[in-house]
Amino acid sequence: MSDYKPCPFCGSSDMKLYGHGQDWKFVTCSDCGADGPEELSADDAKAGWNRRADDANRDDKDSRGSIRSSV
Ligand SMILES: [Zn+2]
Repeated sequence: MSDYKPCPFCGSSDMKLYGHGQDWKFVTCSDCGADGPEELSADDAKAGWNRRADDANRDDKDSRGSIRSSV
């Protein structure tokens, strides 16, 4: 079961959750290696990734267009 947003950089939906040591967790795109913010719980790491994906998608539509044009 995966409810990650697609990667804002490459469009992949193949995400993995990694842990740093005992505590820190972060989500990484398996295809391009983009990673989300490090958080103390898997839920927060997932939420952070989705927030970042939303922000990047908004940037893409509003101004830059660099993400889509590179595909
Ligand atoms: Zn990616």
